[in-house]
Amino acid sequence: MTTPSQPLSSDALLEKPAGDLATDVVIVGSGMGGSVAAWALRDSGLNVLVVERGDFLPEEPQRGDARAVHIEKRYANAEQWYDGKTGKPFSPGVYYWVGGNTKLYGACLPRFRAEDFARTQHHDGFSPGWPFTYDDLEPFYSQVEELFEVRGNLGEDPTEPRHSSEYPAPALRHEPAIENLAERLKRQGLHPFHMPNALNVESQADRELEAISDGAPSAGGLKGDAENRALAPALASANVSLLTRTRVVEVLTTEDGTTTTGVRATRDGETFTISATTVLLCAGAVNSASLLLSSTSAAHPDGLANSSGLVGRNYMVHNSTFFMGVKPWRKNRTAWQKTLGVNDWYLAGRGRTYPLGNVQMLGKLRGAMAKGVRPLIPMFLLNFVTNRTVDLYLTTEDLPAEDNRVRLVDGKIHVDWTPTNLKPHDELVTEVSRAVRRAGYPFILTERMGIATNSHQCGTAVAGTDPRSSVLNADCRTHDVDNLWVLDSSFFPSSAALNPALTIAANVLRVMPKIVASSVRQP
Ligand SMILES: Cc1cc2nc3c(=O)[nH]c(=O)nc-3n(C[C@H](O)[C@H](O)[C@H](O)COP(=O)(O)OP(=O)(O)OC[C@H]3O[C@@H](n4cnc5c(N)ncnc54)[C@H](O)[C@@H]3O)c2cc1C
Repeated sequence: MTTPSQPLSSDALLEKPAGDLATDVVIVGSGMGGSVAAWALRDSGLNVLVVERGDFLPEEPQRGDARAVHIEKRYANAEQWYDGKTGKPFSPGVYYWVGGNTKLYGACLPRFRAEDFARTQHHDGFSPGWPFTYDDLEPFYSQVEELFEVRGNLGEDPTEPRHSSEYPAPALRHEPAIENLAERLKRQGLHPFHMPNALNVESQADRELEAISDGAPSAGGLKGDAENRALAPALASANVSLLTRTRVVEVLTTEDGTTTTGVRATRDGETFTISATTVLLCAGAVNSASLLLSSTSAAHPDGLANSSGLVGRNYMVHNSTFFMGVKPWRKNRTAWQKTLGVNDWYLAGRGRTYPLGNVQMLGKLRGAMAKGVRPLIPMFLLNFVTNRTVDLYLTTEDLPAEDNRVRLVDGKIHVDWTPTNLKPHDELVTEVSRAVRRAGYPFILTERMGIATNSHQCGTAVAGTDPRSSVLNADCRTHDVDNLWVLDSSFFPSSAALNPALTIAANVLRVMPKIVASSVRQP
């Protein structure tokens, strides 16, 4: 390995000097996991370099333009991946920007339920327990809620786990159409609640400004994301630096393969080494697994940290359906729709021995968004229908299966995916159809998401206590390689049925003391 050369300081924010670099901790990826890791290390005394393949997302009017986002796909910048079954390429629903997927996420930040951490009976089998409990993670959920100023109300959702602190701010209010929906669901004995959300809007004008920012960048800068909430304050610290437009292509180890020594990266055609005593992989579940699989050596011929053979396997992504209730005679004028959730089917019960999943709102659908998936339908018709819908997002937990996996073929990402646990998902769609019809929306349209809707990807390097059945230990350090940690959703032993970002971030804070204790400050 090349001798470490230029030590980094925050001066190295964008300008990379020629040649190799050295730091104490290198973080691969600046999404939810990577940015929160940088934030947690900001006062550690360790030199930290965040390496991000994407650039800063431009400040420009197109951020709030549904046509630019959904038809022209202005911000979709990931390479093509391949469906392992058909060999056909597809455009994955991931984004390579500083801040990662959170630049386009919907900012719904619920905690997983306490039951999600235990072995759970599902329709198609069991989802495994986690190597730590909800109570272990609870204080860190509170810290992340504080950091992201999550808005929510306690006491509304019967499945809500124990909270040691209130939400930092009250929940976003429902707009009239959603308030009406909530009332009508309550009358059916359901328990709609205000969905925890990190959208910092006060006025209706704010909401209009951010109206399309679920699946699009924030037009008004009011969405709390990994960049503005975690990375920016981290970069204010002199010991944290960021290198953009730099792709990590290999994780390096000592010759015997027992300890990581840094990474190899490329930028503007130059390949160089970043030596580090600690490497944190936060590239997203598919990219982190791909990096491990491509980092082969004599000591790790099947990919780094892969003595279990499980790197890339157990890929999970949720069964999800976009669901529209149509009321042809009334327009839905809601700007920010993502204020309501329903967990009445989240746990076993209501006559079933298995869970069905979570119900929440999508960002208000617009004609241009539908045009992105239904290009042949005339725009006026799409506008007519979407102006008269409430739009929901239904998710059911999918179960880990070793044959659902990420593979590399000639350096390209292939995803083998056969959905599991589909029957409860169909039952969820049936239950919600009945409830939404009774709530005054006589027509229902649904669309189940396919292989490209993988924004909730997880499980490709599961954490556990047994090195034969897991890639990471309970602290998310690889069993096989010292000082190599995976801090994105790769570690999830099960996918739960809720949005993953808050859990990714809370877990980073949970394991950070161990990382700091084992990291060496280089002279
Ligand atoms: C449209 C959309 C809506 C969503 N809505 C929600 C929501 O409301 N709530 C929620 O909880 N979750 C939501 N999600 C999911 C959420 O954004 C992700 O779960 C979360 O961002 C994952 O964090 P991460 O750190 O694992 O990865 P990411 O946020 O994906 O970050 C990974 C980063 O690593 C970089 N990278 C990848 N490979 C390399 C490499 N080789 N070298 C250097 N850098 C690399 C990428 O460019 C990226 O910036 C949504 C996602 C999308 C796409």
